[in-house]
Amino acid sequence: MRNYREIELWKDVTEKQWRDWHWQIRNRITDVATLRQVVELDDAEADQIGKVLGTLRMAISPYYATLMDPADRGCPIRLQAVPSGLELAQHEEDMRDPLHEDGDSPTPGLTHRYPDRVLFLVTDQCTMYCRHCTRRRLAGVTDQPRPASDIDAAIEYIRSTTDVRDVLISGGDPLTLADAVLEDILKRLRAIEHVEIIRIGTRTPVVLPYRITESLCEMLQRYHPLYVNTHFNTPAEVTSESRQACDRLSRAGIPLGNQSVLLHGINDCVEVMRALVHELLKLRVRPYYIYQCDLTAGIEHFRTSIGKGIEIIECLRGHTSGLAVPTFVIDAPGGGGKIPVGPQYLISRSSTQTILRNYEGYSCVYTEPREYRDPCGTCSKIKSCSRSRPLIGLEKLFRGGFVSLHARHAARDERRRDREWHA
Ligand SMILES: *Cc1c(COP(=O)(O)O)cnc(C)c1O
Ligand code: SF4
Repeated sequence: MRNYREIELWKDVTEKQWRDWHWQIRNRITDVATLRQVVELDDAEADQIGKVLGTLRMAISPYYATLMDPADRGCPIRLQAVPSGLELAQHEEDMRDPLHEDGDSPTPGLTHRYPDRVLFLVTDQCTMYCRHCTRRRLAGVTDQPRPASDIDAAIEYIRSTTDVRDVLISGGDPLTLADAVLEDILKRLRAIEHVEIIRIGTRTPVVLPYRITESLCEMLQRYHPLYVNTHFNTPAEVTSESRQACDRLSRAGIPLGNQSVLLHGINDCVEVMRALVHELLKLRVRPYYIYQCDLTAGIEHFRTSIGKGIEIIECLRGHTSGLAVPTFVIDAPGGGGKIPVGPQYLISRSSTQTILRNYEGYSCVYTEPREYRDPCGTCSKIKSCSRSRPLIGLEKLFRGGFVSLHARHAARDERRRDREWHA
């Protein structure tokens, strides 16, 4: 990390200005000429960046810019912040909205994919536009909060959809909103009885830790139970500033989680990920997910094999604290939601025995109880339990009386005469 005063561009900035998040947002690096004053760029690179800005705008907070190594093109901070000509590459498998968030959207900015929770995109503005952003179709398009009419419509949908017990506020970055604007949204969500928990997804503790002010935390803690998930990708992002930001949130009683994206050249390395999860626990941030990089157009150069993610989990689970081990997920192309993948620990089974292996490769047998009777289906609660909610997916096979689930587009299924018998 460089001292900002050593950079000519900011040498006269006062400490007070530097720590003011409004100043940081106003002074984001958004053009090539300014960027050149902070990191080395040759003419070819500058030219490429100019071309890329039409696809996803550039914005780098001065704070995050001081974490970049000015000379090293492979610096993991620089790779996340500085556009690359590779973003212009087009591939057949790429998509604009690979997770089908717009399609699963009852009102603009709201995605209702899972039974009991929604994703609420309240703004398209971010402090910094991550070059690996999966939502680049949306991020930075207006660099503004969503229109109030969209917010009203989304809140109305949540109010009238009593299945929604968890609202995940994201964007863009919701902490680019002014405290009062964010508070208005939180207050209206809290007034809905069936909304049990509220989550905020934000990268500000990483890219603009000064945003986490005492007054923000005081406001947030009035809307508990509230959770915050942030987005650290490398240990190089853990600084005394980000530590203070996380500490403030924790002291406001907010449980913190982290969602990393597995990124080529940034954290596709067991040792880097191991250091990251340990740093996170020291910040009292629980590693929650590692995402496989999505099939979003413009980010193919960041993608890794799926095997790299599995290898990382293999080298964490058992080797270090369970608290440090996130779930590796692939967000299903087409909108199926997050699919967890990881190493296999169950080696084989007989009718009474299960053979397992641990992280060392040691294998063992677990002998099942001789007379285990599953209470499910015989307990006295059965009537209310099967009526209380519709069974979804594989639940139908376990206790819904179905023997098979069929893919809707299978030609074989079209030919069936007994389609109505199947889920
Ligand atoms: C990730 C996500 C959620 C939240 O998923 P959790 O696994 O509960 O953290 C909700 N809705 C959408 C559309 C998502 O992508
Ligand atoms: S903070 Fe999130 S939404 Fe914003 S650019 Fe980064 S990844 Fe995309």
